[in-house]
Amino acid sequence: QTAPRQPHTSGWQSQDSAHHLHPFTDYKALNAKGSRIITHAEGCYIWDSEGNKILDGMAGLWCVNIGYGRKELADAAYAQMQELPYYNNFFQCSTPPAVELSALLAELTPPQFKHVFFTGSGSESNDTVLRMVRYYWKLKGKPYKKIIIARDNAYHGSTVAGASLSGMKAMHAQGDLPIPGIAHIEQPYHFGVAPEMDVNEFGLRAARALERKIDELGECNVAAFIAEPIQGAGGVIVPPDSYWPEIKRICAERDILLVADEVITGFGRLGTWFGSQHYGIEPDLMAIAKGLSSGYQPIGGVLVGDKVADVLIGEGGEFFHGFTYSGHPVAAAVAATNLRILRDERIIERAAEDVSPYLQRRWRELADHPLVGEARGVGMVAALELVKSKSPREDFAPAGKVGTLCRDICVENGLVMRAVRDTMIISPPLVLSREQVDELIEKATRSLDQAA
Ligand code: PLP
Repeated sequence: QTAPRQPHTSGWQSQDSAHHLHPFTDYKALNAKGSRIITHAEGCYIWDSEGNKILDGMAGLWCVNIGYGRKELADAAYAQMQELPYYNNFFQCSTPPAVELSALLAELTPPQFKHVFFTGSGSESNDTVLRMVRYYWKLKGKPYKKIIIARDNAYHGSTVAGASLSGMKAMHAQGDLPIPGIAHIEQPYHFGVAPEMDVNEFGLRAARALERKIDELGECNVAAFIAEPIQGAGGVIVPPDSYWPEIKRICAERDILLVADEVITGFGRLGTWFGSQHYGIEPDLMAIAKGLSSGYQPIGGVLVGDKVADVLIGEGGEFFHGFTYSGHPVAAAVAATNLRILRDERIIERAAEDVSPYLQRRWRELADHPLVGEARGVGMVAALELVKSKSPREDFAPAGKVGTLCRDICVENGLVMRAVRDTMIISPPLVLSREQVDELIEKATRSLDQAA
């Protein structure tokens, strides 16, 4: 039931259209319709300025892992702002929240990670990855090892390096990207590329594209491979089981660094603290952001494994890299509080043991819907592939129209789902209850019915 239109909504919308350039937004489409103004949130729900209560199936932008409205995080920010609102961690200085957060990350990450380099976002984390791996190989006496291999349809951020590492053609086209020294290989997208092929055979084939690319570029020129354990913004691409072990083998045999972009999969999304643990990846570096603070403050980082850290610390001089807000005390204090709550309340483990198996089971039921070609997911992330016909398989053309329609219907029905072309995605807070899973499935089903 839509509440009566609030008088301030139209005022906000017209000022928004007049002055605010939004990220990833078609401005003409937004101005024609007016933005939805989100005013407050609690638990797994957001409210808009019209008074509509909406189940947030995306945890904001895959980040509010702990759920909305945790007062402890607000208290941590307030206390830190009074104590020390800002000081930098440059030039031989440090601040207690940055120290505490780095020690906490060393405790919560796999044993090879004892060091972290703080950033302000996931994009900055991946920029840092690029700079760090090239510096590492220079220190190792192999300055020609420069090229970073990433994957088609990956999303690693919007800065110049982040967008270059990303494999999104539309982003590249607008910015004359990628920058030199970055190459891409195919993604392990079974449903999209070769649904008729045996899934694990396909996984091996997709992984071996890395080997072929290394051969083409010359092993001596390749610095690293970067990938999300599960591609998120590319459409929740769940790799076949055969994929990651093969990638691991190739990186080890070919002497290239393995970087996991854990910006989405870090801090519990797949049921383990890091997505790398779910797949047994054992990366050399991990990029983090989002769930680090559950989105309550902007903060990210690069977790640096011993193999790289030992060289940076033992053999390097000054690393000419860093951001004014690297390890920002307020953001770090909030992130540390968030991590302690995740740990002490066993939020990740509880979601993995109870709610996510239930969510995944109920989500798979949606595969019976006439619009759904595949329902997939792991832990607290899932996707539906919308198709015009299941058998013989026919996709919608032009791609994306039905996805957008379904997304808009969902919001009207009180559920945020994201559309990536015609793939519908959820990535809800980890504190979602079983009752809220039922609500999500009911609203998703109703929206699919209306979109069909
Ligand atoms: N890496 C991944 C896997 C992401 O999903 C994102 C954002 O969605 C980023 C990096 C970029 O993070 P940010 O938007 O904080 O710069």
